[in-house]
Amino acid sequence: MGRAKSQASYLEQALRADGVRITRQRTALLKVLAEAKDHPDANELHSRAREIDPTMSLATVYRTLTALEQQGLVHRHVFEGASARFEIADARHHDHIIDIDKGEIIEFRSPEIERLQEQIAERHGYEIVSHKLELYCRKKAT
Ligand SMILES: [Zn+2]
Repeated sequence: MGRAKSQASYLEQALRADGVRITRQRTALLKVLAEAKDHPDANELHSRAREIDPTMSLATVYRTLTALEQQGLVHRHVFEGASARFEIADARHHDHIIDIDKGEIIEFRSPEIERLQEQIAERHGYEIVSHKLELYCRKKAT
């Protein structure tokens, strides 16, 4: 089973365990979510899911995303100047670069930054519970 496929069935089981009815529309949305690599917003998820199931409504997209978010299975990112973007909660922590011209989201991981943040929190007598780092960027002219 591929990664996207097993992620989709994992989300389906989690929703079912939470008492959410798994409809054809929901199955389509989970598939689209699992396959997305670009942090799509709800409208984008809606249009992709409609290609699989044309009866999909935007309301179902929102309700399902809310249920997944409440279970911590999906992360909602509210980047400045954009609609909320969604991605499956991944075990691997990463931060984001937001291309302010194209609206593209780029993921990065930096052990140096992670360490530095811990040191800063430590210096203030804290330990980090979670953090989000967002770099708003413009592509350099070449
Ligand atoms: Zn991400």
